[in-house]
Amino acid sequence: MAQFNKDAMTAFSSVPDESEIRREKEKARALKASPWWKRRCAKGICYYCGRKFPARELTMDHIVPLSRGGKSIKSNLVPCCKECNTQKKANLLMDWDQYMNQKDK
Ligand SMILES: [Zn+2]
Repeated sequence: MAQFNKDAMTAFSSVPDESEIRREKEKARALKASPWWKRRCAKGICYYCGRKFPARELTMDHIVPLSRGGKSIKSNLVPCCKECNTQKKANLLMDWDQYMNQKDK
């Protein structure tokens, strides 16, 4: 039973096909040009580490990556500094949740 959550996550993160990923990337691009995104970046806060950055140093990040079935919806898109972005990419090979937990400590 302890495995239930992890199984649910795996089901949610079923691997999407190429065309679906391309479609989500298009959506992300459109949102990047929206006032909503500009407002988020103007705040200048990295979603992951909580530090402040100039807007141009923030990148758009999918909390649940497209490659893991994430969508380009507002609730899944966050501003992220380059450092966290790089670290997240590296950590996706391992366990990003674990990385986030470490940051909380
Ligand atoms: Zn950061």
